[in-house]
Amino acid sequence: MPSDSSWKAKYLKALESSEERESQWNTEKNQLQRMLVRTSLASEGQNRELDRLLAHLRSELRKESPDSESWRKLQDRIDRQVSVLDEQKMESARRISLTFEQLLSELRAHPLFANGKDRLRDLEKRLRKPETHQLHFTEWLSDLAGVLETGLMGTGEQGPKPGIFGRLFGARDSLPEKTEADTSDVRPAPAGSELDQGDAEEASQRLRIARRVGELLGHLLGQVSLEPVSEARARRLQESLLNSDNWDELREGLNGVAELVIAAVTRSQREFEAFLRRLDERLESLRQCFSEQTAAQTGRLDASEALDREIRDELQVFGAQVESSADFGQLKASVGRHLESISGAVERFRTQESEREKNLSQQLELMHEKLAAVEAQSEQVREELAEERQKALRDVLTQLPNREAWQERLAFECQRWQRYRHPLTIGVLDIDFFKRVNDSYGHKAGDRVLQLVAKALSERLRTTDFIARFGGEEFVILLPETPSDVAKSVLDGMREHIASLPFHFQGSPVSVTFSAGLAEFTDGDDEDEVFDRADKALYLAKDSGRDRVLISGGSPPAT
Ligand code: GH3
Ligand code: MG
Ligand code: MG
Repeated sequence: MPSDSSWKAKYLKALESSEERESQWNTEKNQLQRMLVRTSLASEGQNRELDRLLAHLRSELRKESPDSESWRKLQDRIDRQVSVLDEQKMESARRISLTFEQLLSELRAHPLFANGKDRLRDLEKRLRKPETHQLHFTEWLSDLAGVLETGLMGTGEQGPKPGIFGRLFGARDSLPEKTEADTSDVRPAPAGSELDQGDAEEASQRLRIARRVGELLGHLLGQVSLEPVSEARARRLQESLLNSDNWDELREGLNGVAELVIAAVTRSQREFEAFLRRLDERLESLRQCFSEQTAAQTGRLDASEALDREIRDELQVFGAQVESSADFGQLKASVGRHLESISGAVERFRTQESEREKNLSQQLELMHEKLAAVEAQSEQVREELAEERQKALRDVLTQLPNREAWQERLAFECQRWQRYRHPLTIGVLDIDFFKRVNDSYGHKAGDRVLQLVAKALSERLRTTDFIARFGGEEFVILLPETPSDVAKSVLDGMREHIASLPFHFQGSPVSVTFSAGLAEFTDGDDEDEVFDRADKALYLAKDSGRDRVLISGGSPPAT
């Protein structure tokens, strides 16, 4: 027969261990909440509405005890946000595909694409299938790039690719030599020269294509959010695509931005949306877990109340029997029965508890796994986005920072200069007679020269200096902590080094030189003014014989 002290001890122990479990559950829950807060911080900065939801999610999580009702509401709002995003995406996909269709039909009418009509028609057909937008858009774009490439370049060439829009508008540089089959000349006629009928038609077709791409850029810009500087620049480009008919202007710098937009639309954006969907699913299952946990906890409380009641009832009946009983033997037997039944109740309670505990720990383990997966995914998406941004700031051919990156760095250094007033000099470099290299040895040789010059220039700079490819055969350099006379000796060193590089084309040695203009920041300057001064100095350097470096406002050297 169990003694009075042993069933009491059992009862107390059972209650105690369930309290321990509760506090352990609270610790686990806190950990989960911290992880969720971190996860939601990791996904911030992509979309304003989503940021708001994530901030809300975090404040929910910071509450002492997040209740399942507010989790459900939050889930509903995330659902709604995702479906709004879906709708917006479908609408802009529809507009994009309409513009693409128009672009494709302009291309079909273009003699350059006479041989690619079937492929263009096939692209058009695929574009009309809705699943193209969700699943195969990147593939589709790369096929379009292939068609453009074949049309504009003749056979697909090897080597670095300047991008589909760059090719479309870089046609003056990148067209193959005319073949017998191709009698059209798509180069823009010089002002004042006579255009024959075919040329005029050709030029107006190319203009129509340019307008189409301008519209396209507009739609694409509506789909992604860019940094303000890139956004402004993309808008300027769009403006010139829609209004200008100067081919050089259209071509200028289009690559970087168009590719940035394409990359953002086709990769980061889609990946981010997929990530959102996954995050959303995880949140839903976590919410379910939370409400199951709450239910389990309620069950535990109910069970311990029931145990309490059962024991109290037993004791009451027992007390009444003690009072009314006169027979000691009967009393003893009754004590035994009551203690047994109390002990049975405690035992049942313990069994139920351990069952509940097992379920809880299984659920916790599941939640841990799910959260770990969410964290890993958000880390991966963050890395991919960072990589994408890096790519968007790099020039494909030379691997130097591009014009976009230059604008960012220039703004940064300019602000530092305004604050500290340490000397800061800008250099604008342009390779001399570069067109001759292209004309005599071909475009690929020209590309190679650009790569080698870029490498040689950047190797000779300090790590605090900055060089970028500004466009074509033009480079720009920022030299912090450097007055213009010191910058001049740095650039003269570079100039002599480049001039001494042993370039060989078709067996003969060729020397490559550049001219440069320098300008130092002075009181009242802004970045555009200094840049213009350096650019003017470059043109003076060209005018006074090339292969030299001139400081803005300095006296030109004797030739
Ligand atoms: P100048 O000394 O006056 O600068 O003469 P230039 O021939 O260098 O200047 P111009 O502006 O007349 O020609 C620049 C040429 O650079 C025209 C274009 O064919 C070529 N070019 C621009 N970008 C690229 C490129 O990415 N690859 C190649 N191969 N050539 C390019
Ligand atoms: Mg130039
Ligand atoms: Mg040049």
